[in-house]
Amino acid sequence: MENGKMGLKPMESEQLREYGHRMVDFIADYYKSVDTFPVRSQVQPGYLHELLPDSAPEHPESLKDVLHDVERKIIPGITHWQSPRYFGYFPASTSVGGVLGEMLDAGLGVLGFTWLASPVATELEIVVLDWLAKLLSLPPHFLSSNHGNGGGGVIQATACEAVLVVLVAARDKFLRKLGQHQFPNLVVYASDQTHSSFLKACQIGGIRKENCRLLKTDSSTNYALSPDLVQEEISRDVAKGLVPFFICATVGTTSSAAVDPVPDLGRIAKRNGMWLHVDAAYAGNACICPELRKYIDGVEDADSFNMNAHKWLFTGHNCSPLWVKDRRSLIQALNTNPEYLKYKAACSDSVVDYKDWQIPLSRSFRSLKLWMVLRLYGSENLKSYIRNHINLAKHFEELVAQDPLFEVVTPRSFSLVCFRLAPKEEEDEETCNTRNHSLLEAVNSTGKLFLSHTVLSGKTVLRFAVGASLTEEEHVTEAWVAIREEASHLLLAN
Ligand code: PLP
Repeated sequence: MENGKMGLKPMESEQLREYGHRMVDFIADYYKSVDTFPVRSQVQPGYLHELLPDSAPEHPESLKDVLHDVERKIIPGITHWQSPRYFGYFPASTSVGGVLGEMLDAGLGVLGFTWLASPVATELEIVVLDWLAKLLSLPPHFLSSNHGNGGGGVIQATACEAVLVVLVAARDKFLRKLGQHQFPNLVVYASDQTHSSFLKACQIGGIRKENCRLLKTDSSTNYALSPDLVQEEISRDVAKGLVPFFICATVGTTSSAAVDPVPDLGRIAKRNGMWLHVDAAYAGNACICPELRKYIDGVEDADSFNMNAHKWLFTGHNCSPLWVKDRRSLIQALNTNPEYLKYKAACSDSVVDYKDWQIPLSRSFRSLKLWMVLRLYGSENLKSYIRNHINLAKHFEELVAQDPLFEVVTPRSFSLVCFRLAPKEEEDEETCNTRNHSLLEAVNSTGKLFLSHTVLSGKTVLRFAVGASLTEEEHVTEAWVAIREEASHLLLAN
């Protein structure tokens, strides 16, 4: 970049125009060619250190040189999450709308920690989360427009932050009522399939490890939490003088997209005066389709509900809407009021200061992404896209089910298929697991597709998650051919 006579001009409009156009061209070309790269990066650990200088450049370099390095040194280190052949973990779907929203956010450079810091950053978030809440048919008490009810939505960066802030809100609410001396007695409940972020939240939130009940699940409930087991544990804990206060239900678990019975857990939470959080990070997105809304039935009795629009609603990372029934609990747990942030309207309680609904102070203008996606595509198109992904997963599941060498391990939910090479006759689980690990490595090494794995009831399972924006039927069929081919090689070799 030229450092002209007048010194550095880091935000010069004409340069932004010129460089911005070039960068958009670069990104558009990336999406055009993303299918030609090996999906999993083939580099070895530490590869980049060899390629970059030891210290930062003292003098400006040209954008051309930087982009050249991106092509030669950065792209090879990418595992291509946006490849149409990416089926690992859960998706992190992008879209033109999401990228444009992110661009606008970066360009405007706004931090909306209080209403005053940039009124529209707060107000757009409120409106857009009410739109999304209506698309999900969430109960009215979650809507900010029904503020009289005390609820509202906020965009967290991630589901990990969402569960942490609601856990802390619930903890403080209970301790205000029961007294601080009960802190060591607080107990939480979830299934052993619950995302690891829940235990991390408990650890940060000071909940004793021995008071975290991660209840066992198995194939008899398709890895969903048994409400009877939860109630039994609660009764046992109460008898011991402990204080059950929080249930975390998951709709769409990370391993197998299992759905915990939210209505039953809601009743248990209500009966025992507990906080119910619903983590629908991945599957919540699908619930904008009316025929899939049933998976979050019972959310009416939840105290908080979270989904990651950055997983399957095309916003790109990060955008994790969270709704709470009682905003006061959240604010009481997280608010700070330093002199340098005070302003007139805040004292009147007529405005929202999102700094008090989250961990960090600063926050970007994330609602722009969601707003852009909802406006550029419209909810009907988004529903069709999600349905298409689910149909593609169904197609893959049928291919697996028809092949005697393989088995579908647990019935498909949403767009995730859990499958494996079936054990040979009289083969022990360990040998079968080793073969499936070998298959995973062989498949991912081809670069033709990317899968991830999990373990269910001691079985190593391969996960095929559809959700990348560019994925079409041919990619799924070709992925299956590649998996089948690698499996044949493996079986012949053994
Ligand atoms: N909850 C569930 C069910 C998930 O699947 C995930 C991630 O895959 C998370 C929470 C964590 O999401 P994040 O990366 O947004 O914190």
